[in-house]
Amino acid sequence: MLAALDPQRSVIAFIGLGIMGKPMARNLLKAGFRLRVHNRSRAAVEELAALGAQAADSPREAAQGADAVVTMLPDSPDVEQVVLGPGGVVEGLRPGGVLVDMSTISPTVTRRLAQELARRGMAMLDAPVSGGEKGAIEGTLSIMVGGDPAVFEACRPLLQALGKNIVYIGPSGAGQVAKACNQIVVAVTLQAVSEALTLAERSGVDPARVRHALLGGFASSRILELHGQRMLERNFRPGFKVRLHHKDLGIALAAGKAAGVPLLATALVHELLGALEARGMGDWDHSALAALLQELAGAPAGPPTAPPQPAESGPPPGGPAPAR
Ligand code: NAP
Repeated sequence: MLAALDPQRSVIAFIGLGIMGKPMARNLLKAGFRLRVHNRSRAAVEELAALGAQAADSPREAAQGADAVVTMLPDSPDVEQVVLGPGGVVEGLRPGGVLVDMSTISPTVTRRLAQELARRGMAMLDAPVSGGEKGAIEGTLSIMVGGDPAVFEACRPLLQALGKNIVYIGPSGAGQVAKACNQIVVAVTLQAVSEALTLAERSGVDPARVRHALLGGFASSRILELHGQRMLERNFRPGFKVRLHHKDLGIALAAGKAAGVPLLATALVHELLGALEARGMGDWDHSALAALLQELAGAPAGPPTAPPQPAESGPPPGGPAPAR
């Protein structure tokens, strides 16, 4: 069984240094872990190397000598390629090592990966997160974990460096099912907030005052608070990209189909996010759902929306985008 990870002694490999992964890797360094980092593009690797991490040219090189490998990648095929592909994690990780996949991916792919690793004597946790870039920077993510409970306990010190609300959900894939549930609630609430604020505006009522009033009652939520404010400002810099939430709702719909649960509202928002992506807005923040609705409502274009920033240029001015 894996010995408990120790911030003073354990070596962690971190692969995928994007909006979420880069600040998470920084928090592992701050906690004292020895860190090896890899990313497809190089800039973020060099940034982390300047802070004391060891740069690696491939997932295999990152995993060599590591006790645990954390992946924070966009989608299921990315994780499959990084773990099992040529030069992948399994070629470098020692038997007894553990993969902690914190990306949001399919529960089915997760279970298959866990089986592949188990055949090689390696363990795997699925540990997707909620809390957005802000939670990643502040180390306050909510983490939903699937896998062997003993492996979860051994990895707790690592997870504690990244998040606050760390919940063991169940066996392999259960963490990803929990994350799909999270994404349903976030997506449907985003659409509800878009509709409420657009209705106010098109009725000649100040949407900022409506948001303020709603925050004091049953309609209150973090989405109304943070994303509602972004919608009022028409600030659609990511944050959480439209294309990633579209991907997540695809995962949720597949899980719904497998479980025989019709996810009616999820399907609607999935289509709307797809429409945004088809318009070339896949890299905008998912609160751009409000921009689409305004257009459908025949609203004038309004002040220019902020274009998304390339990932390399870091968080937008004014601080990180809101948590989700
Ligand atoms: P992101 O900014 O697009 O970052 C993804 C990173 O993975 C990029 O740095 C990318 O490198 C790297 N990458 C992609 N393929 C790779 C490969 N084959 N080998 C090595 N590195 C590779 O995405 P993110 O927002 O951080 O999200 C990451 C995951 O967390 C996703 O599953 C997302 O659904 C989930 N999530 C995101 C948020 C959020 O608010 N953003 C919140 C919770 C969960 P390049 O620099 O070359 O593109």
